[in-house]
Amino acid sequence: RVVPVLVAGTLVPTVFFTTARDEWIDHAYSIKKTVSPNQPTRKERVVILGSGWGSLSFLQRLDPDKVDITVVSPRSFFFYTPLLAGCSTGTVASTSITESMRWHLHRFKGTSSRPLFLQAHASSIDVEKKTVTCGSSAVGVSTTLDYDQLVVAVGAESNTFNIKGVKEYATMMKEVEDSLKVRREVLEKLESANSLLASGASDEEVRRHLHWVVVGGGPTGVELTAELCDFVNSDVRDYFPALTDKIQISLIEGTGKVLGVFAPHISEYARNKLLEQGANVTTNCFVTGANEKTVSLLNAVDKSKSSIDYGLLVWAGGIGARPFTRAFATQIGGEQLPKKGPLRGLKVDNKFRVAGADNVWALGDCALSGSPPTAQAAYQQGKYLGRLFRETNCEREKVEEHDAFEFHNYGSLAYVGSSSAVADLKLHLWGSEHPAGRGQDSDSTVLEGKGAFAIWRSLYFSKMLSMKNRWQVLFDWCMSGTFGRDISAPY
Ligand code: FAD
Repeated sequence: RVVPVLVAGTLVPTVFFTTARDEWIDHAYSIKKTVSPNQPTRKERVVILGSGWGSLSFLQRLDPDKVDITVVSPRSFFFYTPLLAGCSTGTVASTSITESMRWHLHRFKGTSSRPLFLQAHASSIDVEKKTVTCGSSAVGVSTTLDYDQLVVAVGAESNTFNIKGVKEYATMMKEVEDSLKVRREVLEKLESANSLLASGASDEEVRRHLHWVVVGGGPTGVELTAELCDFVNSDVRDYFPALTDKIQISLIEGTGKVLGVFAPHISEYARNKLLEQGANVTTNCFVTGANEKTVSLLNAVDKSKSSIDYGLLVWAGGIGARPFTRAFATQIGGEQLPKKGPLRGLKVDNKFRVAGADNVWALGDCALSGSPPTAQAAYQQGKYLGRLFRETNCEREKVEEHDAFEFHNYGSLAYVGSSSAVADLKLHLWGSEHPAGRGQDSDSTVLEGKGAFAIWRSLYFSKMLSMKNRWQVLFDWCMSGTFGRDISAPY
């Protein structure tokens, strides 16, 4: 526990004071500068669907003195996805990584019109009439909004590839509610295993409750496995000493390595680190089905079948297009329909205009733009599109002349447990607003271990979108590092 406290206590504040650049200060300042007496009399009505990375980054760069903004999302808050795995074990509290959309919109006070927020699901778009219909499931009403420009940033959903039983029995790892569910279930499994042990139940039954299986060896699955290992090795050991040796944490991955986006030696490091902490890591293995107690597996190499009992099953096996995105792409038809395979998102050009739908733009995970489905990409896209709107007022000729979007991959990071991380950074791109060229693999700076962990924490800390969340997360890291994670589960 000394290492995280030291890291939180020294490096993080340093990074905070040196790199914390409150985007909103820039934004408020630039709004003041751009208000001109020759504003158009009727403002463009911009409707934004979503309250995630892409939409918030876009929203932050709009000028409410020039456009009327309405944000529609079933989720009334933004949340910081990179720290979601830590929420599942109580390393950080869920409230520390969430930020109300109303708070973000309140920051526009003092401008000529304040953006509106509507907590609802967009259900259909009429591109001819330029309307979007939104339904609020809470009160069962629907609203039709007129738009001049519609920005679709509805993200993606967990993809279970229609594997039988996964939707019913696995917990997804996508939303804040999912991480709270994982947390609640882990604590419940510990208590129920303890009761089974006290009642004299079979060792097999106790162990089944304590077998936690994570499917998907990408960054989300690896970070969750690492967090669960940390939780067991530093907290459960103290509170449930009779159970600790019976706990098993398994990570299952279909391809031949975990963290496939990283260099092979980094994947190997991550795998060894998880094994060192007591996790089972199985690669080349596909989940073919699940029921209430068992997961069925297929070995991708020798095609042998097997099954394992589980107490908790978490799915981090990939993402796919939301039904709303699929329905809209199908409605547009033409080039939106893939020649083969499933529909994965809305096809857009290099300025995020949706092919076949005038005045509709799409960004982030719901768009097929050539960028990876990451927060880093969605944030850059929102930033680009916000600037494009400000600089062109969406006038066709000006949009044509505007520079096309170029994604800059600044690198990838993942936490692998026991205060260690892996990092693959394109340092030559850092510190420049418009870096030239994409990062080449040969330009990577690859780090692993405690140093990478310090960078992982510092970077994710400094990239948080609000001061409030930064202080809350810093506080949580210090508290969980010093006093251990909270094991009460009132949620
Ligand atoms: P989202 O952020 O998912 O936002 C979509 C929004 O649309 C949500 O507010 C949703 O409620 C709303 N919405 C959904 N349906 C509708 C509808 N019908 N009408 C209106 N609104 C709707 N990326 C990184 O770069 N680094 C990381 O470390 C990282 N870690 C991650 C960890 C986890 C656990 C997860 C799940 C993802 C992580 N990602 C990370 C990926 C990253 O979070 C996504 O790529 C990013 O959130 C995409 O942004 P987005 O704006 O497209 O969608």
